[in-house]
Order: sequence, then C-alpha cells, then structure tokens
Amino acid sequence: MPEYETHDFDVIVIGAGGAGLRAAIEANAKGLRTALVCKSLLGKAHTVMAEGGVAAALGNVYPEDNWEVHFRDTMRGGKMLNNWRMAQLHAQEAPDRVRELEEWGALFDRTKDGLILQRDFGGHRYARLAHVGDRTGLEMIRTLQQKAVADGVEVFMEVKVLRLLRDADGVVSGAVGYWRPSGEFVAFTAKSVVLATGGIGRSWMYTTNSWESTGDGVAMALWAGADAIEMECVQFHPTGMVWPMSVRGLLVTEAVRGDGGVLRNSDGERFMFDYIPEMFAAETADSEAEGDRWYDDHANNRRPPELLPRDEVARSINSEVKAGRGSPHGGVFLDIASRLSAEDIRRRLPSMYHQFKELAGVDITAEAMEVGPTCHYANGGVRVDADSTATTAPGLFAAGELAGGLHGSNRLGGNSLSDLIVFGRRAGIGAAEFAEGRTGRVTVDEGEIASAIEAALAPFERDGGESPYDVHHDLQTTMQSLVGIIRTGSELEEAMGKIEALEERAANVSASGGHQYNPGWNLATDLPSMLTVSRCVAQGALNRRESRGGHTRQDFPRPDPEMGSVNFVQGIPTSTTDTSGAGGTPSVRSITITPVPLPVMPDELKALMELKEAY
Ligand code: FAD
Repeated sequence: MPEYETHDFDVIVIGAGGAGLRAAIEANAKGLRTALVCKSLLGKAHTVMAEGGVAAALGNVYPEDNWEVHFRDTMRGGKMLNNWRMAQLHAQEAPDRVRELEEWGALFDRTKDGLILQRDFGGHRYARLAHVGDRTGLEMIRTLQQKAVADGVEVFMEVKVLRLLRDADGVVSGAVGYWRPSGEFVAFTAKSVVLATGGIGRSWMYTTNSWESTGDGVAMALWAGADAIEMECVQFHPTGMVWPMSVRGLLVTEAVRGDGGVLRNSDGERFMFDYIPEMFAAETADSEAEGDRWYDDHANNRRPPELLPRDEVARSINSEVKAGRGSPHGGVFLDIASRLSAEDIRRRLPSMYHQFKELAGVDITAEAMEVGPTCHYANGGVRVDADSTATTAPGLFAAGELAGGLHGSNRLGGNSLSDLIVFGRRAGIGAAEFAEGRTGRVTVDEGEIASAIEAALAPFERDGGESPYDVHHDLQTTMQSLVGIIRTGSELEEAMGKIEALEERAANVSASGGHQYNPGWNLATDLPSMLTVSRCVAQGALNRRESRGGHTRQDFPRPDPEMGSVNFVQGIPTSTTDTSGAGGTPSVRSITITPVPLPVMPDELKALMELKEAY
C-alpha cells in the first residue's frame, strides 16, 4: 500500500463553503486545534456562486418583520415537513449572524439611512434578503475566509476526502483522502468531525451546482452510520439558462424577479397569474395592472405571482413548456428590460448582465432572457439534532446544504446562506464540546485507511475498464429524465434498477495517466458518492406517494396528510460488511428507508402558524 501522511487535530471540518468556514471559526475560537479540509481552492467553494442574498429578519426595510414571520414563511415554504426547532433557531439567530458578518468586514448594500439593505425574494412576506448586489456569496466567503485564516485555522485545500474513519467503538475519529495536485494520500485523526460538503446537483444533467457538489458528505455520513432525511425533496430552481447548451442550467438569480422581472410565454402572456394556488389567491393581484401596483404599494402586502415559492414557479414553467407555449430553446421568457431602466439593471444585477452578454450574446437591458428549471438545491440531507447539529453517528456533526431538516420539502431563497452561518456556528460549538469531552488518544482502524486507499487506486490497476465519464453521463441522463421535476412510480422503479446497473459499471471503471490532477480518476472517486445519493433520492421519491414542495408525483398529484406527517429517514445498517458497491463502499442496495413521525411542534409555535394575517 502507498505511504500516506498523517495529521492530528481536535476538530476537523470537511468543506470550506459558508458552513464549513463558520464552523471552523467557532471551533477554533473555543481554543481547539482546528483543521479545514476542502477539495477545491480556499475561496472557491460553491458558496461564492450565491447571488441573491442572505435571509434574516433584520427589519431594516420593513420594521414589522421579525423572527416569528420568518419562521412561519420557512415552515410554509417547506410545506410543514421542516424540523420546527431548526426553523425556529434559524429565524431567531440569522439577524445576529448577519450583523456579525458586517462586524467582520462584509460590505452589504445599504438603505438611505445606512442600514443593511434587504430585497424581496419568493415566499418571504417582507423584503428580507441582505445582499451585496448579486454577489452576496462571494462577499460572505471573502469575509469568513479572512477571519478563519487570521484566527489561525489550519487549511488543507485541494484535498478530496474519500471516507470517514471510526475508532474501535464506532466513534467517528478522522478521515482519509488524497491531495488532488499530487495524488498522494493523507489521513486525519480528530476528536470530532464536522461535515460541510454542500450539495448533490452533479448527478443531474442540468444543474446550477459547481463541480464540487457530488454529494460526498451525505454518502460518507451514511457509510459511517449516520442517517439521511427527506432526500427526495430536491429543489429545481425555476430559472436556469436554457441555452447555449454549454451553460445550460446556469442560474438566473431570483433577484431578477425580486427586482421586478416577470415571466411570459411565447404568446407574450404573463402566465403566472394562472397558477396562483388558492392559499395565496386572496392576497395576490388578479391582473397584471394590479400586480404592478404591488411594487409601489407594499402596504397592501400584494405579491407578484413570479415571487411564489420556487416549487410553484418551476412547475408552472414546466406546464407552459409542455403545453407548447415555451420559448425557442425550451424555456420561457424572463423580462426585466421592460421593468427597470438599463442603468438600474446594470447596477442591481451586474452578474446577470455580464452572464447573458458574454455567454448568450443577449443584452438583458433590451431583450428578455430564456429560462427554465434546473437542479439547484438538496432540501434534504444528513439528519441532525437541531441544537448541536450532531448526526446519528457519534463524533460526527453536519451543517450547511448537506444537512437536512431546516427547509422541509422546499427551501425559500436566501434561507441557505443564513442556514450556513446559523448552523455552521452551532456545528462548531457542537463539535468543540464533543471534542472537549473526549479523553485519551484518538485511534482509528488502519485497515479502514488501507482499504479506502486501495479502492481509490483500483481504477489504475484495471485494464480495459469503462470510462468514468460514460458512467457519469448515463447517471446524469437517468436522474434528469426519471428523477427530475415531475416523477412517476414506474419511472422511479426504472431509475432504481438503472442506478444498480450503473453501480456495477462504476465498480469496474479504469483510469489512465498519472495521479496528479487527473480528472478521470477524480471522477472515478466521485462516482460512489453520486450513486449513493442518487439512490437515496430515487428511493425517497418512490416512497413519498404524494406531491409536496420540491417533490412532485404525477401519479399522486396532491399532498397527502398522512405522508405529510412523516419524514423519510434513510440509512445503512452499521453492522453491514458489504463492500460490493463502487469504490469498495456498501452497495446502494443496502440503503434502508423508514417513515418517522415529524417532531411535535410546541403549542406556542403552532399558534404562530395559525395567525390569519400570515397569508
Ligand atoms: P459549499 O459552498 O458547496 O461548499 C462545500 C465545500 O465542501 C467546498 O469547499 C468543497 O470543496 C468541499 N467538499 C465537497 N466534497 C468534498 C470532499 N469529498 N472532500 C473535501 N472537501 C469537499 N442560497 C442563498 O441563501 N442565497 C442565494 O442568493 C443563493 N444563490 C445561489 C446561487 C447559485 C448559482 C447557487 C448554485 C446556489 C445559490 N444558493 C443561494 C444556495 C447556496 O449557495 C448553497 O446552498 C450554499 O452555498 C452551500 O454552502 P455549503 O457551505 O453548505 O457548501
């Protein structure tokens, strides 16, 4: 077996997006030796792509906003599948976390009075998103990264973690991976581990997600004995670019609609008025003229239908395209040109202006954009305790997009960046407390390290195996066509079978060339995670026989109250010795699924949900 280097820390945090950085800052602040490990360069995590803003009831634009309204919006947006305690903590703590970012140097856009400016986003009752133009994620990462490095967090960048390691008692005690630049292996021991590896979108053909979002954290957590929750609830963002093909899926931020953009079909109709659900109808304008007035008169609390929650907008676009009223490239039109001046568009939406100009040759100050749904966000993920972010595997904590619970079946825009800083901080505290309570030297099973390294190197040993790119392509096609925005039982059954077949193929892929920056090999090591999370999504979707939030079943088109009372929890029995999956991991066949009753909401929060003025 090749040699590997070793490092020992109190806490290791895997992932350097907003969640991982915030967790590392907190663990380090508690005086613990903290390492931050990430597979891309520091500062390049997917969080930099976040555009629209961070949701927090600061009340700067609408003084009547408060945590209770934010809590209610989040629960309603998630169609009540959310973990109420996470939604409560998130709404209560987000304002302090945003102000803290400001103290650490983040330069938010300002109101005339010098307060942090907040913009409208779908599903939020009040303008609530603190933002920096449409480059909020970049500013958040810049601020957190500077703080983490200045505070002395030790960074291991371009290290891809392959597996978590446990001690003889099954407590998570480290991780093993390899340096992408050299291909050399590295093992970490730690008293506790935080996972913050982000999303899962790379398993779909069209996605807004960066190359990092291969679901590694969710898969590694499952392999180490943790549970996942609500994996079927994948969010398809309503507005991704639909052409040119090379950038299909790239996000068109909700800020375009938040700042007044409207959706039209090929007949020029503003079709969203036809898709307003009953629960919103009383408050939503029923003509375009009235919809326009909402922008001038917030006191009426009227909302343009383009700002319905994302699941509603994505399904409506899908229906228009299916009805033959789509744009030339299979989307619909998003028009900001007729709503804002060219100067305002360039000032408020600079990234969108450049994105369309450079990639599609479209001037959005003069023409409409063509947009359509794209795989965007994992609402579900690793199951955690709300207060501590502890997973069901001892020693392991999880925060950020890879954790499930907060968003229920559908996340509101802006609620991810706030999730990262609220639960990133809590993960840092949880992991630090666990580490402080752990005495004695941490040991790991060296056999686990050896088997992870051998499995990672196996593609080089195999002659004539399949290309990992072909397997990945077929997985993306399967997920896009069979586990996409609208699902049916028979297609999901078919997807389950196809994922099993792809797993067999992935176990036999070959890699050639050297170990340094070898993209084919790197992809081969991503496939086990992608297959594991894809199976979880398909299996969850098959079991959730209803339509709710980000999950739509054509054969069960309505929400079912019985299904709405449970979370689907998935796991791999810790007793398994199966290593027949790709990369020597447990086969996707070993993933179990169980409906578990939702945690009971206390009466005072129930009362908040029932307030009539909520919608
Ligand atoms: P990420 O930022 O995805 O970071 C994951 C980290 O884990 C990276 O450092 C990566 O290198 C590392 N990693 C992954 N796997 C491994 C491994 N095996 N080994 C080592 N390291 C690993 N949300 C909002 O609230 N507001 C917005 O305006 C908004 N805009 C968005 C715009 C776009 C285009 C997209 C795609 C998303 C947007 N989101 C927005 C969602 C939000 O950006 C993400 O949900 C969030 O940034 C995820 O942060 P994270 O810290 O959980 O993970």
